[in-house]
Amino acid sequence: MVGDLCLSPATSDGTYGGPVMVDGDASSLHAPATNDRRCIDPRAGLQAMLDVLAADGYRVIGPVVRNGVIAYDDLTTEAEMPVGCSVEQSPGRWRLHHGTDSSRFSWTPGADSWKRFVFPARQEVLRIRRTDGSWTTTGPTPPDRPLALIGARDCEVRALSILDRVLLEPDHPDNHYADRRAGTFVVAVACGEPSATCWCTSIGGGPDPIEGFDLKITEISAGSGTAHRLLVEAATTRGRELLQRVPSVAATDADTAEAEAIMARSAAMMPARLPASELPELLAGTAQHPHWDAVAQRCLSCGNCTSVCPTCFCSTFSDHTPLGTDEAVREQSWASCFQLEHSHLGGRAVRGTTAARYRQWLTHKLQTWPEQFGTLGCVGCGRCTTWCPAGIDIVDEAIALTGGTR
Ligand code: SF4
Ligand code: SF4
Repeated sequence: MVGDLCLSPATSDGTYGGPVMVDGDASSLHAPATNDRRCIDPRAGLQAMLDVLAADGYRVIGPVVRNGVIAYDDLTTEAEMPVGCSVEQSPGRWRLHHGTDSSRFSWTPGADSWKRFVFPARQEVLRIRRTDGSWTTTGPTPPDRPLALIGARDCEVRALSILDRVLLEPDHPDNHYADRRAGTFVVAVACGEPSATCWCTSIGGGPDPIEGFDLKITEISAGSGTAHRLLVEAATTRGRELLQRVPSVAATDADTAEAEAIMARSAAMMPARLPASELPELLAGTAQHPHWDAVAQRCLSCGNCTSVCPTCFCSTFSDHTPLGTDEAVREQSWASCFQLEHSHLGGRAVRGTTAARYRQWLTHKLQTWPEQFGTLGCVGCGRCTTWCPAGIDIVDEAIALTGGTR
């Protein structure tokens, strides 16, 4: 049975922590957790973990290959997960490569993110039915099981933390989000092979998740035959209890040293590109910068960047009355600040140009989000750069606007 339906598996204050704190104490977000370290077999151990989570009543979601990309979907067996896969990313480009080794987590995420499982792209939020001259209203049924996320990267764990700050803020919480988010069990994965568009180290994160998870996997000696194993660290009581039910051996000092070496190499592959905590100040006063028009020459205003972003949360509502029924349905769906109507105010769109819409998007992420939520609105996952059809890189644009050099 699932235990307590808490929202926060790893911190004591009810938040996940992790995004760059602009006002507040960033050091507390990276406080080392007390972890238990075990090694499990990449096949039998992972399968046992999936089985235990399912037996405990979780809906288990994890990485799969769908239509040539890494996506997240319901998982029953470890065999459904990508094996020997690596990913090549650059602005406007994402390619999956199939190798012959046994690695399980040598890829970086695709366009898909965990966001759609807790904040769906489209959802019914209200149904009104006329019956015998009166009206009855019903809301959506809450999920019957909490989620278990297998393979969340540090940027993804921090993105969930940002969504929590926005959608669970005490005065106006999104109850549908809260229902889906409740009790989420997180199995994080340390990134050993970051992509060229990853820049989490510049914005408060890194390849090695520090908190916001129940269990963390670091894959070691992938592709080296019998030595291939997954180092699993427990960060919460329920994570520790679950790990005890999975066949494992105690991790050695050599295992820990190998994992640390992989993380050091991985972090070195992502040199700092931006001074994250200084961005609000650096971007202030750039509203009339000519570079916004230069970006607008390339930007298609398509909104791909907002769709793939794991922290974008704008939405809109629409009402439908299906023909031949006595019902009306209200739906909530993702919206984008690149949509003209998104800024419709006082009879017109106040952000009528692509330059104005791109400025709104970038400055909200990197400048003004902290005023609302105390953190930056970006985790450096690079999705917006990879999946932009024009190959526009948010980091390059921020550098151009703030006068920095790469
Ligand atoms: S703005 Fe871009 S890099 Fe930042 S979280 Fe969103 S998709 Fe990732
Ligand atoms: S920045 Fe790229 S993905 Fe975003 S709206 Fe412009 S063209 Fe589309």
